[in-house]
Amino acid sequence: MTEEGGAGHEAPAYRVAVPSDDGGPATVFEHLWTPYRMAYIRGEGNPTGTHDFPFCVIPTMSDEDGLIVARGTTVFAVLNLYPYNAGHLMLVPYRHVPDYTDLTADEVAELGAFTQTAMRVVRSVSGAHGFNIGMNQGSVAGAGIADHLHQHAVPRWGGDTNFMPVIGLTRVLPQVLRETRALLADAWATAAAVPAGEA
Ligand SMILES: [Zn+2]
Repeated sequence: MTEEGGAGHEAPAYRVAVPSDDGGPATVFEHLWTPYRMAYIRGEGNPTGTHDFPFCVIPTMSDEDGLIVARGTTVFAVLNLYPYNAGHLMLVPYRHVPDYTDLTADEVAELGAFTQTAMRVVRSVSGAHGFNIGMNQGSVAGAGIADHLHQHAVPRWGGDTNFMPVIGLTRVLPQVLRETRALLADAWATAAAVPAGEA
């Protein structure tokens, strides 16, 4: 990873919290997933009761309002309201469980299948060069909503490190997110119809 700017370059707030910026994988992931915690701390979607967590509420909304791209049997795909990059998806089990080991075999299988489809869809729509895929387990590991498991799928493009810090804490216009959702939902329906191994 190359660092943007040089000495005197003003770093966005969330990067200040990163103790070591050696450009290694751990640093990249810390950059990647810290913004969500901050976004949620700012108040939007904050839980007010045991089952008021965003990932429990989102499936009760319309696809458009919830930014839902696809609904499966046990898992759904939703756009992140605070994307780290364009097309940042989250794959989330409907069940309110915190830990990967809490998932049933069926949920693990569908979470995996949704992750594959998310990659195909985002690649087909945006030509992403790569992805960061993964989940933070526990708030100590950076999970913004530690009580409800969610897997991130963040598309990456060569050179995107230069603008990511700029958009990392910037609220994307709701209309942009709505258009992105519609685009991905259409592509998802097509990709999901293709048997595994043929796409
Ligand atoms: Zn929940």
